[in-house]
Amino acid sequence: MLKVTKFGGSSMADAGQYRKVRDIVLADPERKVVIVSAAGKRNSDDHKLTDLLYLCHAHTKYGVACDPIFDMITSRYLEIRDELGLSLDLESEFAELKKRLDAKQVSKDELASRGEYYSAKLMAAFLDFDFVDAADWIFFNMDGSVDKQTSYDALKKVGSGKGIVIPGFYGAMPDGRIRTFSRGGSDITGALAAAALDATVYENWTDVSGILMADPRIVENPQPIPEVTYDELRELSYAGAQVLHEGTIMPVREKGIPVNIRNTNAPDDRGTFIQESFDTETDPHRVITGITGKKDFSIITMFKRGMTSQVGVLRKVLSVLERHGISVDFVPNGIDNVSLVVRTDAIAKHLYAIMAEIQQEVQPDSLEVLDNISVIAAVGHRMAFRPGVSGRIFNALGEAGINIRMINQGPDELNIIFGVDNKDFAEAIRVLYNSFVK
Ligand code: ASP
Repeated sequence: MLKVTKFGGSSMADAGQYRKVRDIVLADPERKVVIVSAAGKRNSDDHKLTDLLYLCHAHTKYGVACDPIFDMITSRYLEIRDELGLSLDLESEFAELKKRLDAKQVSKDELASRGEYYSAKLMAAFLDFDFVDAADWIFFNMDGSVDKQTSYDALKKVGSGKGIVIPGFYGAMPDGRIRTFSRGGSDITGALAAAALDATVYENWTDVSGILMADPRIVENPQPIPEVTYDELRELSYAGAQVLHEGTIMPVREKGIPVNIRNTNAPDDRGTFIQESFDTETDPHRVITGITGKKDFSIITMFKRGMTSQVGVLRKVLSVLERHGISVDFVPNGIDNVSLVVRTDAIAKHLYAIMAEIQQEVQPDSLEVLDNISVIAAVGHRMAFRPGVSGRIFNALGEAGINIRMINQGPDELNIIFGVDNKDFAEAIRVLYNSFVK
């Protein structure tokens, strides 16, 4: 039985956080594989190490000395090392890196990856686990995708039987150069390690007690979601909830490994479990799993009498957007009218051309654009085939005086999506939350 654990930047921010991580890892002998992020912010005015590393690289690229930033970076790690009483020689590694940096021999990706690399070195020493470099087992293909099978096989061969600590966020290209994932990518490293080693669970430790039912900046103290399916999570993340890096789910889903989001600062909280489906649920009567949303959409609405009985109108309209490389988020329609819901920033530059082309291709009776629309999604697999849920949603919004500009429900009934004016965004989420969660 093996648990793969990943600790995010806030869990690695200082020596105090390292101690919490050690307590968590050593509390369970199955926690044998640890993936770490670079040190994150210690408080809201602080800097993430990864940001400083990118900044440092930008300086050297333009021939400006980055010494003060480099010192800030190295002193964060030296402080952690000294406070934990570790005797790791980081100074000579830093000196070597600086020499290569000044000689412009360090790529942006390699420099950015050093945040995770030093975190892992320190954590391995602190736990007395083996350090396993991600560049020795995460192998990228030339197109930037991960060669999963080769990577999995390589990870299975490393380690001396003790626990291992792996730096997140990067791997190696076929020629050995370091390549990072996109920001937040240590989540992917953890998922790949869990899949490679057929872990029983992938624990993703962060600074919240799981995925919350709604954005805490909008709803006061939202409840954590005890269980969420992969499909629900996809819906929640599409509509704005920032939970895991989007590349995280595939490797663990392929292997049927559950993900458990936990809080390093409240390790007794059970957190959120993410898996394909659940036989038993903490709260089987809960109708809605989560509520999320995004602002700044536009709705293009076209009316054309007799359209419903004509062939090809919808295709012609959609092909106009396709020509402009714009993806359409929703296509709610009525009799003789259809709306296209698109991101305002995607369409802004093309709007006049698109309107003219739709006009020309289908000669609508009218064509309108509505801006400043927010899309809100109520997500939950328990909504499917349960009568009355949408009635409850629209009743609550109606009583709060919120006008609904668009309604859409996916055929799998996993969500109910509706559009409101941007000015009603936060209130709509609060009203919905309060009407479903007591
Ligand atoms: N340190 C990287 C970042 O800040 C990767 C990660 O933490 O997941 O994006």
